[in-house]
Amino acid sequence: ENQGLTFERLPHPAPTDSAQREQALANPGFGSVFSDHMVTIDWEEGKGWHNATLGPRVPLSLDPATAVLHYAQEIFEGLKAYRQADGTVALFRPEANAARFNASARRLAMAELPEETFVESVRLLVEADRDWFPTVEGGSLYLRPFMIASEAFLGVRPSKKFKYIVIASPAGNYFKSGAPAVSIWVSSDYSRAAPGGTGAAKCGGNYAASLVPQAEAIARGHDQVVFLDAEEHKWIEELGGMNLFFVFDDGRIVTPPLTGTILPGITRNSLLTLAREEGLDVHEERYSVEQWRADAASGKLIETFACGTAAVVTPVGKIADRNGEVLIGSGGPGQLTQKFREKLVGIQRGTVEDKHGWITKL
Ligand code: PMP
Repeated sequence: ENQGLTFERLPHPAPTDSAQREQALANPGFGSVFSDHMVTIDWEEGKGWHNATLGPRVPLSLDPATAVLHYAQEIFEGLKAYRQADGTVALFRPEANAARFNASARRLAMAELPEETFVESVRLLVEADRDWFPTVEGGSLYLRPFMIASEAFLGVRPSKKFKYIVIASPAGNYFKSGAPAVSIWVSSDYSRAAPGGTGAAKCGGNYAASLVPQAEAIARGHDQVVFLDAEEHKWIEELGGMNLFFVFDDGRIVTPPLTGTILPGITRNSLLTLAREEGLDVHEERYSVEQWRADAASGKLIETFACGTAAVVTPVGKIADRNGEVLIGSGGPGQLTQKFREKLVGIQRGTVEDKHGWITKL
């Protein structure tokens, strides 16, 4: 229905001046500096996708009755463009984000966007904003495609109009402290996702629900919250924005399975692929929080790491809950954690061979 959707390029009347941009790019942090452009595409029942534009990043004007503002019919993605060793720019597995975006769209009763349109939209934005790559070490251009229910209607039913938008944000280090290892608080009072719920979808509502438990973790002096399954409060699921891996002294590597309540991370999938290829003993298997604490205390568990687009691979040094704290290994980054991080970062930056076609050069 949307074959040949072409993007209209709108002129930018007032791009950021270069001195201001360069200052922002020297220390962008995460999520508060934005590039000059955005992509938008509209969808309407009976009409499909239309009105595709690449233009200046401007505020949206929305009717107060716009459905997304009331019922949170909204989904998003997060991926990065990396400056390569040879000076070119590349995306990491954008087609995987496109597929996950559509899986989220189906769960939230939204229109699916052709995968090639998703990838093209991201590519166009990166090309328009190629001056917005951070100059800091380890920097990247974080891309945020998202879709909102844009119909002005207060009935509770799927919107008949959607707006898809992509914005870009230069990113430095995800964790403010730049800490080598993070400390994790186990949330026993709150759940992130229940069976049959939206845990496997990347919808804004999941993140709204995670704010109080995350704030509790911070208030208790930890960096991130880990969520347990909603039924038994026993099995480890994931962090607010990252998946988890556990490494044991006998060489076993475990990550929680995709049971529908955790987000199928693209970093998780990439690491599983790399680990299996190396012949490592890797399992998608449930692991309980009790066992986690016991194995950390006994030394059987030697590493734990979190992974996701924003923080790549981040060591977890400490687990804490109401019963106290346990260090994992030495409390610092473990060997396998560092190896995975270097390998993945290497593929993303073009210094390690991309055997899987994960890199899309622009
Ligand atoms: N879990 C959650 C809840 C997330 O928000 C993210 C970030 N998208 C991840 C895991 C990691 O996913 P990815 O590796 O695709 O960034």
